[in-house]
Amino acid sequence: MTSSNNRPGNDRPDDSEAGLSGESTESGNTGEYADGSGSMDTLEQIAQLVRDCVDCPLSDGRTNAAPGEGNPQAEVMFIGEGPGFQEDRQGRPFVGPAGKLLDSLLASIGTKREDVFIANMVKCRPPENRDPAPPEMAACTKYLDRQIELVNPKLIVTLGRFAFGRYFPGEGITKARGHLREKEGRKIFPVLHPAAVLRRDELRPTMIEDFKAISEILAGGTKDIGTEPGVTAPEVPHTAQLSFLDAPGPAVFSLAQAESSTVNVEEASRPEQLTLF
Ligand code: URA
Ligand code: SF4
Repeated sequence: MTSSNNRPGNDRPDDSEAGLSGESTESGNTGEYADGSGSMDTLEQIAQLVRDCVDCPLSDGRTNAAPGEGNPQAEVMFIGEGPGFQEDRQGRPFVGPAGKLLDSLLASIGTKREDVFIANMVKCRPPENRDPAPPEMAACTKYLDRQIELVNPKLIVTLGRFAFGRYFPGEGITKARGHLREKEGRKIFPVLHPAAVLRRDELRPTMIEDFKAISEILAGGTKDIGTEPGVTAPEVPHTAQLSFLDAPGPAVFSLAQAESSTVNVEEASRPEQLTLF
């Protein structure tokens, strides 16, 4: 289970629209579903529906769905890609190596997973940790849509290219990361996927910077940036360490790799790399 780590073709503009195009069967905004599949008035109801869901083929291979978890009144919501091996075993998001890094990053800005809400684009593990397919994301988006409505976070942090593609299809995460945006009336802050950082240690300073920016945004320090729909916010000043982002050469290659799939680090992780500093 190593080959799927290095897939080429990182930006998939057509695919990334999938998360937005799913037909919702929701009848109004009460959380009631027209097909009688159950209401989604609370996060727990959503979680129960997810655990029983057979709306896409990912239900076939799962051990446990990972509906998402955290503070129901979180100010910030993190959206990842989909469960990996550990998440599938435990039925919880981000509990494997990528999750450990996420925990460290949260700690680095003085918060913890219980204070935020953590969810994924798809709630069931894709076989062999392959990328989630567009129809799977489309089938699953109703749950995430409603989780976002109910939690109503001040800020959504997208982790990696799939969650980013939900809001900005066709754009590359490498350029977009670290810039506060607004879409559908919500503040969106794209960052790299923690699993990409585990694979490419040189991305770690960028990720730490981006998490610092999250705490600044939540503190209101950057409320003036990037508030127009679809307009990139002004550049956050880059430190010297970050200047490689726009430079040609090997570093660019590394960042491009950061856009490849992200759940499958579970098998490739190196525990000694989990410390942040
Ligand atoms: N990667 C993700 O995108 N989500 C998880 O829950 C775990 C790893
Ligand atoms: Fe249902 Fe989502 Fe799981 Fe597919 S991934 S079976 S849509 S919960």
